[in-house]
Amino acid sequence: MRKLIVAGNWKMNGTRQLAADMVHALKETSLPTDVSVVVFPPSILVGSFVDCSGCKTGIQNINSEPSGAYTGELSASMVKEAGCSYVLVGHSERRSLFGEQDDLVAAKVKAAVGNGLMPVLCVGETLEQREAGDYLAVIKSQVVLGLSRLSIAELEKVTLAYEPVWAIGTGRTATPEQAQNVHASVREVLAEEYSRKVADEMSILYGGSVNAKSAGALFAQPDIDGGLVGGASLKVNEFLTICSAAA
Ligand code: PGA
Repeated sequence: MRKLIVAGNWKMNGTRQLAADMVHALKETSLPTDVSVVVFPPSILVGSFVDCSGCKTGIQNINSEPSGAYTGELSASMVKEAGCSYVLVGHSERRSLFGEQDDLVAAKVKAAVGNGLMPVLCVGETLEQREAGDYLAVIKSQVVLGLSRLSIAELEKVTLAYEPVWAIGTGRTATPEQAQNVHASVREVLAEEYSRKVADEMSILYGGSVNAKSAGALFAQPDIDGGLVGGASLKVNEFLTICSAAA
């Protein structure tokens, strides 16, 4: 059985107060038990979430190295020790603003799994790539390269997130059909590269302007197993509504 997951990516937003409000709301609200809620706050705020009974905590980035002279960075083992269980890897903002390429993404995915963290590997095409028509090949290569350092057994720790770059922070969501189409092809890629079992068991989240209005129709698609939510995860009530929509 695939896990249903709704994850909130706060990016470089949020305050201690918002974290306290979100933790309180997640504790007090009875959300569907089959939905795992994960919050990725800025790393300095993870301490607010690690004891929250209503969610798991994730970090937005790790370094691929185990330790050393990397000023400003956090290793996977430190993040694990701080109480996080998930890490975002390959987010399009890391790829485009910080120059992260597939080989580094693969190294981070490996470091995460090797240290007991569950990576959420983000993939997705730019508008240019979509319009050029070769977007499925782009996504396939991001998936295959991102997972390339893992053994088959390690794949069960991975969640994928399809986030078309043209839909992130733009208010322009992929239609449920567009998203379903990509999710189904990603599942075929997993079946071809690994096995039908791997393909059937891996959760694939959709991200890109998910909000309380769009979540229901997206999450109702057979190959969409929840969402990675940016802007709308900063609004407590809206985020809870989105979490409920995944059940
Ligand atoms: P958005 O961000 O929901 O604000 O579009 C999604 C993401 O970047 O994960």
